Parts: sequence; structure tokens; C-alpha cells
Amino acid sequence: MRKVRVRFAPSPTGPLHIGGVRTALYNYLFAKKYNGDFILRIEDTDQTRYVEGAEDYIMQSLKWCGISVDEGINEGGKYGPYKQSERKDIYKKYIQILLDNGSAYYAFDTPEELDAMRKRLEEEKSSVRQYNRFTRGQMKNSFTLSEKEVSDKINAGEPYVIRFNIPENENITVKDIIRGEVNVNSSQLDDKVLFKSDGLPTYHLANIVDDYLMGITHVIRGEEWLPSLPLHVLLYKSFGWENNMPEFAHLPLLLKPDGKGKLSKRDGDRLGFPVFPLEWKDPETGEIASGYRENGYLPEAFINMLALLGWTPEDDNEILSVEQMIKEFDISKVHKAGARFSPEKAKWFNKQYIIKMPNDKLAALLLPEVEKKFPGTDILYIEKVAGMVKERMNFLSDFCDQASFFFETPESYNPKVVKKRWKEDTPETLSNIFNLLKDVPLHKFTSEYLENSVKAYIEKNELNFGKVLNPLRLVLTGTGGGPHLFDIMEAVGKEETLLRIEKGINEIKKT
Ligand code: GLU
Repeated sequence: MRKVRVRFAPSPTGPLHIGGVRTALYNYLFAKKYNGDFILRIEDTDQTRYVEGAEDYIMQSLKWCGISVDEGINEGGKYGPYKQSERKDIYKKYIQILLDNGSAYYAFDTPEELDAMRKRLEEEKSSVRQYNRFTRGQMKNSFTLSEKEVSDKINAGEPYVIRFNIPENENITVKDIIRGEVNVNSSQLDDKVLFKSDGLPTYHLANIVDDYLMGITHVIRGEEWLPSLPLHVLLYKSFGWENNMPEFAHLPLLLKPDGKGKLSKRDGDRLGFPVFPLEWKDPETGEIASGYRENGYLPEAFINMLALLGWTPEDDNEILSVEQMIKEFDISKVHKAGARFSPEKAKWFNKQYIIKMPNDKLAALLLPEVEKKFPGTDILYIEKVAGMVKERMNFLSDFCDQASFFFETPESYNPKVVKKRWKEDTPETLSNIFNLLKDVPLHKFTSEYLENSVKAYIEKNELNFGKVLNPLRLVLTGTGGGPHLFDIMEAVGKEETLLRIEKGINEIKKT
């Protein structure tokens, strides 16, 4: 068996949509499963759609996701260049092969003439609306012009395209790993443009030539390319490469959360969730589209979520490390039907990864944000607090809100909680607790010891637990919820605990 070589071949026409990231991920998982190579090829032959910064964005996104590239612009490799605009001479050579063997021909029709053709066919209610063997006889091309006329036009610098001469009435049968057999008759295909007089090939030609020259064994790409598959098969045949044709797998679409239609680049911020891995600033309009990274997602959670959009692991276990995904991934088990994207599920994945992450690693990720809000905080303290609040976080960005009272004395008290929990005798109760805690020696100021002392005090005085613990929580945190009360006391320390009780008694009394 040939060494597995797959490629992710994005066009730098804008930021990489999460559907594109999933395509990259499936290629990567497949390559790694078979100890193969994952190649990044930039398909930038359509210069009119080129967007500044998109290429860099693609590379940054893959890097953030942990999808490492074996061969590409930055990595190098034996099959370069890995950017199509740098391979112009290669395509010239290969289009010539097709011209020479009659598989391609010149056409000189202007956009207006093409429009007129379409209109005419429409008016005639013709069943054919394309540029093909039935219609090309009325157009300006190698079939209707003499050889001399063709070369004169080329020499005079007239713009032209080179079209594929689709063979007549040929049944094309090709197996797709996910979809099974695809059958099409060549009469349904049009004579696609393969090359233009600007010296650049179109997607179809460049893609086939590069896949062949780069030794690609499997083409794994989005469903939107399925209609091009018969044409691609014919191109392989025209070059005489049918024995080296890669296998094909066309991935299901990502659908909007309501399942109605394809998840588009515009859906994201409109529906309140990102559709891009990283934030993207449009170089022309300056408009910003939000990204998963900036929204506090962990890359591990993000790719785990993406991997399961279109594939279900055997044992239904949803949380998988990259290593597990590589082991279990089976391209033939990828679903045919579109995968509905769920922002809720994305959040759920992130939460699971935050909970699962070791506290020291989590603290390191939280440090920059905490530094900004509470300068000078010790990383070990962040680690301790992270362990206590991570169950309450969906995103890294939730930390500072959820944990603010670990870093600063509450300045205000939630009025709803005050109303519910603060009774007439609360100040007196808390004063007694204050006195109790004041006498606890510093080295015994631990969660367990405090809990035992306070609970013993409550029982001894036949008090109600809630009536003591709820206002105690209020003065310590400024609000209702939060982690275990005595853990909070231990974390903020004796002095701060006493200060907060005192402050609460003084200030809440006044409200
Ligand atoms: N350049 C194409 C794209 O932007 C690649 C399609 C393919 O993988 O063949 O999606």
C-alpha cells in the first residue's frame, strides 16, 4: 500500500469557517491513523478572490487547534511549492498535454457572447444550457475556427480560456468512501474552463495536477465538491493517471442549529456564536467576526466538538483526546447526512474540558486575564481558586466573574440575597461567629476545622444552619452562590474573613 498522503487545500478567500477546520481535522486524523502525511496546500489561483491575511489566518487556526502540518509553505517538503500561485509553470506544462491530446481546446467568447448564448438557449427552451458539445458549434473556439485563426488570436493577445473537451456519452463510475458509488453520464457535464489567458489555471486543473504530483492518496473534502468529482475523474483519465487516482471521501455539510440549511459565515454573530476558530478582522470593512479562541474556548474542546459533527465513535464516548480520536477515527463511518451544529453542545464540551484540566494548567491559562483585573496575584493562589470554581465555568472568561470575591473584598451585596437572608438578629449572630473565628489560631484556619467549629457552635446554641451560613456567605462573597463556604474562608484567610464579616455587619445593617 502507498504511504497515506492527504491534503487540506483551502483557498485564501477569507477566514477559515469551522466547516473548513473540520475538513482539516478529518484529514489530519486520517493521516495520523495510518502514519501518513498531512499536507497544507494553498489554492490561490483565483486572484480576484484573494483576501489579505487569510493565508496567515488559516495557518494560525490550524496551529491553535493543534493540527500540525507535515508539508506546507512553512514546513517545506519534497513536493513544493505548496502555494498554487507559485506553480504556474507546472500548470502550463500540463494544460499543454491536454491541448496536445485533444482533451482541451481554446475558446475566445467574450462575457457578452456567453451571456447571449445563455439567453438564446433560455428563449429556445433548450434542455441544454451549458457550454458543451451541443452548443460550442455556435461559439468561438478551436472547433469553429481554423488552426490559423486560433493562433492568430493568441498571438494578437486576445483573451482566451482553455476548456475541457468532455468526452461523449461516457459513463463515469467512482466510489466515494462515505457515499458509495457515484454514477454520472458525461453528457450531463459542461466543458469547464481549465485555464485562462492570465496564465493561471482554474481550481479543477490545478487541484488535479497537484494531487497527482504531490502523491495524494485520499481526497477528503466538503460535500460541495461532490458535483465536481466526475469531471475530476475524467481529468485523471485524460492525463492517463487513472491508476494513480486518489480515493475520495466527501464530508457532510455542517447545518445551522435549526437544521435548516448550511451553516454559513454570516450565521455566527447573527445567531450569537462564533463560526470561526479565531477572531477575524475584515481587512476592507474593519468588521470583526468573533472566534472560539477569543470566546474562551479551549482548543482541545473545540476540536473534540468538531470531530463529532459527522462522526460517532464506536463506544459513544464523547470526550476524546486527539490520540483517542486518531485511534478510533474511521472515515468510512462518517455520516452521509448533514451534521447540525449546536452552540449549546459546544459550550458543554468546553465545560467538560475545563473541569478535566489539571488546576496548574488551568491557572497558567487564566493568569493573563487575572493579572489584568487583579494585578500581582500569585499563580499558586489562582491554581487553588481555579480548582474551586471550575465546575461553575463554561469558558475561561467566566473565571474572573465567578471568582472575584477570592481576589477582592466585596464592595456591594446582592440586594435580592440581602432581602431574603438578612434578618434582624443576623448582625448579632455574625458577631458571635466573628468572635468564634477570631480565637481560631492561624495554623488551624482550615476549611475542615472552621466547618467543624461553626457547625458545633450552631448545634450547641440550637440555631438554624441556614440562618447562620447564608448571611455568612453573603458577607464573604457579596452574593448567594459559590463554592463551599469554608473553602472560601480558608482561601481568603483569617484576617480577610474577619474583615468581611465586620464590614458586612456594618454596611448591610445600614441598607
Ligand atoms: N480549494 C478548494 C477549497 O477551497 C479545495 C477543494 C478540494 O479539497 O478539492 O475548498
